[in-house]
Amino acid sequence: MVPGQEHVSDILIVGGSLAGLMTGLAMSRHGFSITLLERSSDIDRTGAALQVGDGLLEQLTGRRHASGMLAAGVQAWQSVYRGLRAAAEEAGILVLQNARVETTGQVEGHAWAMTSDNRRFEGAVLVGADGYQSVARRYVSPERPDAIFADYLAWVGFAEESALSVRFPPNLEFLGSGPYVLLGFPLTAADGSPERGRRRVGWGWYDAGHNAILRKTGAVEGSLVRHSLRPNDMPDELFEELAELARLHWPSPWREAILECIARRAVLGTPVVEYLPDRLVSGRICLVGDAAHVCTPMTGNGFATAADDALILARFLDAAALQAEPIAALKLYEASRLPEVRRLARSGQQVSKNFVRAAR
Ligand SMILES: Cc1cc2nc3c(=O)[nH]c(=O)nc-3n(C[C@H](O)[C@H](O)[C@H](O)COP(=O)(O)OP(=O)(O)OC[C@H]3O[C@@H](n4cnc5c(N)ncnc54)[C@H](O)[C@@H]3O)c2cc1C
Repeated sequence: MVPGQEHVSDILIVGGSLAGLMTGLAMSRHGFSITLLERSSDIDRTGAALQVGDGLLEQLTGRRHASGMLAAGVQAWQSVYRGLRAAAEEAGILVLQNARVETTGQVEGHAWAMTSDNRRFEGAVLVGADGYQSVARRYVSPERPDAIFADYLAWVGFAEESALSVRFPPNLEFLGSGPYVLLGFPLTAADGSPERGRRRVGWGWYDAGHNAILRKTGAVEGSLVRHSLRPNDMPDELFEELAELARLHWPSPWREAILECIARRAVLGTPVVEYLPDRLVSGRICLVGDAAHVCTPMTGNGFATAADDALILARFLDAAALQAEPIAALKLYEASRLPEVRRLARSGQQVSKNFVRAAR
């Protein structure tokens, strides 16, 4: 597509990560033409250990899929992304990368998105699945468009089990020590193998004591989160301090995993954000996933909530509704979904508040 040219589809989705892909897959059951716009060319997110329910793909699309396309269990973000992306290709969803949406809007009969390189895309419905800094949310909730920094961060890292001479437990572990909370989780190997010794292990260490560096590096400005803290932003003294704290607070085998990541400088500092929505819909534009609501990852429910958003949206927005009453169908989606996502966002806020209070 060249600048100035228009592209029209039934469903236009902004954001090609997990919520966008799941929404596309759930919509694909109705035979819609679906275009998904993703700003990056290379999508990656570390830190998430996602619980994939049995038969999730089948639930989304209503079809059978090759076994192993998306395995059930605790999976690394990349494995889940790859499975959903392969299924989206199979479903004929048009995924366009390097398509950064700058504005969204609607006129009689359709919604639209304009990209930074001046391409215009139209859809009978536009779904904002563009994460916590959502552009689509600016349209849906212009008076309160931003997710808010929750006053703490999660240090996250991944290690190869084979690089460590300690044994890891079979399941996820939640630990607390002093002002900190640690989530440690073994993941399947890059090729999907759950075999011990070939797995990867991940950890997320919640910390309310290092907000100053987030502000100093511009990762957080006022109450807004701009980006995560990258290893290059982190001075050697900070790594040394984290290593010392890890030795003091975390037991084996998580201590070894953390120290190994610190030695490789393979640690990311992710500021935690939250968003409690007042609405999910405006006319032909609706929101799903982190664009709609954001909870602390401590609750571990972001992925499952995004999957439910996709399923419920597809329940109300079928082929007949898209033809006759798309706006009414989106209103039904909002009425059905808003109370539950507000409840989850509120309970996440409480979890954050308790954590920060105990840490101070
Ligand atoms: C550190 C961390 C740990 C987590 N751990 C867990 C966990 O253990 N369990 C769990 O269930 N959930 C976890 N989550 C949350 C979970 O990852 C998300 O809730 C879930 O994946 C849904 O994300 P999303 O697709 O809505 O948003 P995102 O993953 O943020 O994706 C948004 C996509 O939209 C794209 N985009 C943004 N703006 C634009 C634009 N203007 N134009 C085009 N594209 C755009 C982005 O590039 C991105 O690909 C964690 C999150 C974090 C940050």
